[in-house]
Amino acid sequence: MLPGQWIDGRPAEGGSGHVLEVANPADGTTVESVTLANGADVADAVAAARAAFRQWSQVPPVVRSDALLALAERMKDRADEYARVETAQTGKPIRLSTGFDVPGSVDNTLFFAGAARHLQGTAAAEWDGDHTSTVRREPIGVVGSIAPWNYPLQMAMWKMLPAVAAGNTVVLKPSELTPLTTLMLAEDASAAGLPDGVFNVLTGTGPDVGEAIVAHPDVRMVSFTGSTRVGHRVAEIAAGQLKRAHLELGGKAPFVVFPDADLAAAVQGAVAGALINTGQDCTAATRAYVHHSLFDEFVSGVARVMDGVRLGDPADPATDLGPLISPSQREKVTAMVERAVAGGATLACGGFAPDLPGCFYRPTLLTGARQDSEIVQEEVFGPVLVVLPFESDDEAIRLANDTRYGLAASAWTSDVRRAHRASREIEAGCVWINDHIPIVSEMPHGGYKQSGMGKDMSQYSFDEYTQVKHVSVDITGVANKEWHRTIYSNPRPDQ
Ligand code: NAD
Repeated sequence: MLPGQWIDGRPAEGGSGHVLEVANPADGTTVESVTLANGADVADAVAAARAAFRQWSQVPPVVRSDALLALAERMKDRADEYARVETAQTGKPIRLSTGFDVPGSVDNTLFFAGAARHLQGTAAAEWDGDHTSTVRREPIGVVGSIAPWNYPLQMAMWKMLPAVAAGNTVVLKPSELTPLTTLMLAEDASAAGLPDGVFNVLTGTGPDVGEAIVAHPDVRMVSFTGSTRVGHRVAEIAAGQLKRAHLELGGKAPFVVFPDADLAAAVQGAVAGALINTGQDCTAATRAYVHHSLFDEFVSGVARVMDGVRLGDPADPATDLGPLISPSQREKVTAMVERAVAGGATLACGGFAPDLPGCFYRPTLLTGARQDSEIVQEEVFGPVLVVLPFESDDEAIRLANDTRYGLAASAWTSDVRRAHRASREIEAGCVWINDHIPIVSEMPHGGYKQSGMGKDMSQYSFDEYTQVKHVSVDITGVANKEWHRTIYSNPRPDQ
């Protein structure tokens, strides 16, 4: 059994008295058991983070950079172990863990190791002639972070890296379903030279440990990735203390195929975009809007490729699609597809759980759903794609924007003007043209509308984890200043 907590630079047992078994969703076996935290652990972790803040925020940036470089090296050395554990606790295919989750996390670490040394305010000047102004970009303090289960390692790193690179200290709660690689990360971060208390991990459930982190008065900022529903709750608690809240929430990405698109590329892109991480990806392609002239060919092409997708043991490199995260997630996906069919939608493929142990669900393609139906409007978070036809560009853009979400979208066209118009008019934090999913450490990730506020990754994320201070220095040396006479009528020295 693992202690489950990492507080002030060392492992600790959670005080709740409860033990949680982390299950492998591919077969239900226990990967590891961890103790769960309680409110006292939250208080200890926040106190450790608070104590570490003064020193960590004031070390030269190169010290923070060096620690992150050392962390990247340790992660590279343990890359196979990270991938194996990530696959065991999430059920994601090992090819995804080794090809995306782990190298992406290492690359992010290297990016923020460099970015830590380029964190600057703006240039100085004397705007009124009498004072030199400078802008300092300063860390905020203790950041309370909460992460989801779909990309446990990457989401922990997207939160931790910009925060500590900027000089903040962190108390992070992974999802209780998937804490294992985040605990490995804490161990490696300490070994790499992050001082005790800079990065703390608490394994616990959302309503008690998550809310206690958000509500703690010494937590100056909250950084949350998860569902829009819980994001509302986090924002509500943070608002009560006028605390900064960075929210990365749900998505319902449209996939718009214009009549001049390369159909073969769109078909491949739709399958990859919809099935990544078994559809449990906030940017996954979920709603394909296809021009009526390509509709039938697109549907038959996607159904054919989806039918060939191999489900099976996620640890086997030959497996394409792993299970859903939990039995309850599979029930949710099953019920949403059943309600869609009952409401008039037609299955072009899939729509059932195969005869396998674990939480598997076949890739599913639906047509004939109404734009205002649940399956088109709400996050399924499973391997399910809905296809709807459109007649005109204006209609396609209108339908693409017609949900409460705005995280990501893609447009497929060979017309450069159409591509630019679509990227301007689609309301989403990321618009891909002729692709769907690729991300890079240098570019921001974050939502419009109810997909959240604030950006992960890239230099932009420093805007979230820093505050800007104006410093104004009098350069005249005059005691009796001209502007004082607007406040009280002291005579000029020469009068
Ligand atoms: P979730 O909202 O159920 O849980 C996310 C985290 O919040 C977990 O650690 C959970 O324990 C915690 N939590 C639950 N209730 C809480 C509460 N009352 N107070 C504080 N914390 C609480 O989400 P999930 O099911 O773990 O993850 C899937 C969701 O995450 C999807 O909606 C997906 O779109 C979203 N997501 C978004 C992004 C993004 O970058 N926008 C990235 C990944 C996942």
